[in-house]
Amino acid sequence: MRNVKPAWLLAMLIYVLPLRADEGMWLPFLLKQLNEQAMIKNGLKIPVADIYSDSQISLKDAVVIFGGGCTGEVISSNGLVLTNHHCGYGAIQALSSVGKDYLTHGYWAMNQSDELPCSGLTVTFIVSIEEVTLSVLEGVNEAMNEQERDKTIRSKSDLLIAEKIKNSHYSAFVRPFFNGNRYFLFVTEVFKDIRLAGAPPSSIGNFGGDTDNWMWPRHTGDFSLFRIYANKDNRPATYSPDNVPYKTRKHFTISLKGVKEGDFTMVYGFPGRTQQYIPSFAIDLIEQHQNPARISIRDVRLEIMEQGMKISDTVRIKYASKQKGLSNAYKKWKGELLGIRRLQTAEQKRKFENNFTEWANAAGKKEYAALTSGLKSAYENIQPLLIAADYYNEAAMGIELLSFAAGWMKWMEIPAGDTAALRKELDNRKNTSADFFKNYDARIDQRMFTDLLSVYYRNTRFDLIAPYLHSLHKKYDGNFSKMATDVFRKSVLCSEANLHTLWSKPYKKIHSTLASDPAFKLASELASHFKEKVQLPSMSLQEKLNMLNRKYMAAQIEMQPDKNFYPDANFTLRVAYGKVQGYNPRDGVQYHYMTTLDGIIEKEDPKNDEFIVPAKLKQLYQQKDFGRYAISSTLPVAFTASNHTTGGNSGSPVLNAYGQLIGTNFDRVWEGTMSDLHFDPERCRNISVDIRYTLFIIEKFAGCRRLIDELTITE
Ligand code: ASP
Repeated sequence: MRNVKPAWLLAMLIYVLPLRADEGMWLPFLLKQLNEQAMIKNGLKIPVADIYSDSQISLKDAVVIFGGGCTGEVISSNGLVLTNHHCGYGAIQALSSVGKDYLTHGYWAMNQSDELPCSGLTVTFIVSIEEVTLSVLEGVNEAMNEQERDKTIRSKSDLLIAEKIKNSHYSAFVRPFFNGNRYFLFVTEVFKDIRLAGAPPSSIGNFGGDTDNWMWPRHTGDFSLFRIYANKDNRPATYSPDNVPYKTRKHFTISLKGVKEGDFTMVYGFPGRTQQYIPSFAIDLIEQHQNPARISIRDVRLEIMEQGMKISDTVRIKYASKQKGLSNAYKKWKGELLGIRRLQTAEQKRKFENNFTEWANAAGKKEYAALTSGLKSAYENIQPLLIAADYYNEAAMGIELLSFAAGWMKWMEIPAGDTAALRKELDNRKNTSADFFKNYDARIDQRMFTDLLSVYYRNTRFDLIAPYLHSLHKKYDGNFSKMATDVFRKSVLCSEANLHTLWSKPYKKIHSTLASDPAFKLASELASHFKEKVQLPSMSLQEKLNMLNRKYMAAQIEMQPDKNFYPDANFTLRVAYGKVQGYNPRDGVQYHYMTTLDGIIEKEDPKNDEFIVPAKLKQLYQQKDFGRYAISSTLPVAFTASNHTTGGNSGSPVLNAYGQLIGTNFDRVWEGTMSDLHFDPERCRNISVDIRYTLFIIEKFAGCRRLIDELTITE
């Protein structure tokens, strides 16, 4: 006979996935309701209304989205913004050339007039946030399929946005939270004239390079400084020499008091993406398929790129930013894999799912009881398509020529008579081409073609590969190197000069040339087949998954009414709080929470690019010339804390109990890289540059006193 347990007993026995101390990326506007007590208990010394308020100026007004994927903090009333060096990297690279290599040597604007405009860079303020769940979901009902649901939500959101920003220069967006169970509207103000004010040389800003990335102990001065410019009315404007430094509403006070173990800290910023509530099946997919595949493809890409970068300085500058981006995620996937294996995340989730189903059954919630088996089969169905998508995106489209060529498909599909549309799209292509060739080297890409296409071909299910590639494979007898030689010799798309000659010709000629271009032909065949066999079929499966995950999220909340839930990161404003803390990475090893300049000198290796110490820094070290930034007889550089952060939090202000700036967040420790999926309070630590190191570099190393003079500093 089946042993039926009473519901109350079940409720007590239930294995609830605990929310650990320090875990969470909290919504700033709900701090009052959900977190104030805990924050005070942990040491917060200011009212949460000072952190976020709808009605008065608060710290929120000094936290910005920097570019498209980082955070920055306003540190002066004249629009000075502090962020990471790796966040400013793309902009610094764009301003660099072999003769003016600001990546290698750094850049300091000694006068305001030396500040360099960064084309395309933006800084975004959050003006207001409000919950719009009820209005957005009005008109949505259970009978709707996901597409109808999305459409209703989108049109409601558009109406709300239009109403909200009417007669203003603001922008706005609506984002789903808790997997689409709640919605919030964000009004933003976007500044478009952003100028580089200061950046240390890579030997400081990227000290330790890839070797130290995602690692502790760390000695990177990962910061850079930009300034927001506005028009004469203090409003956002595109670049103009007449623009003036933006007069900010709020800027952070900087504390030089420093940190000690156990101190309360917060990180205020825009965490990009986490997946804390996904079921075990999703973890299995990541652990067994996605991360291993992505890692092995990037092994190939990075090796080719790094070899190429050693050949010449021109190539090195061209590929610096791409290489950095590729290796950053690559290393994180590796650490994440180790982390979820060690924590047995999938196993823990399976236990939770069993209890969840028992709870749903006992509570008579039929729909919930069927959720985990529904999720299981949905993940099984989508798995081969997601794996194929990884190989397509990472390997096939990792060949720059092919992704560039695929970008021409839109132009090729415009009807011959529609000259206006043809002209417009051709202009777009010209812009994209300029960006593409600026950082392109066909020799490197030809090697990529040979190796990556072979990886793609060997690892993708036969029917998911375009028949055209099968025929090429046959024609070349599996020799991808020979195929690459022919494609690169014949394609017009890998030479900027040839392409320029081509697009000055009549449209008909451009069309016929591209139609028979080997790179275009291959890219378009791959892309069309991918769309038909992978992308479209996975869309409907993904919709089903979204629906199941939305219900699963709601059900998890219902099952644990006493638990404080925070929504997964979605690049919206959040507060994480924790303590300054070291950790114990493995048996017998204890990491201290802080590093100093001594460690930079210890790591110095003049033969290794990643560990070169600039002569000036050594001199300051020898003379112990640390000014007011010293502690004992040395200088603090970085520290760890238990704040829950992720990508996007790069550049975030790290604050003390009084809301004063003590550092800039830039990374997490290797043993904690699985925190996007599973937060382990014992080992998950964020890493910040100590603000005293940042100020020391600006003042003593760069001698850029004018930037120090505009800050608000308390000692
Ligand atoms: N260094 C990381 C990044 O750039 C920041 C983090 O994920 O903690 O993605």
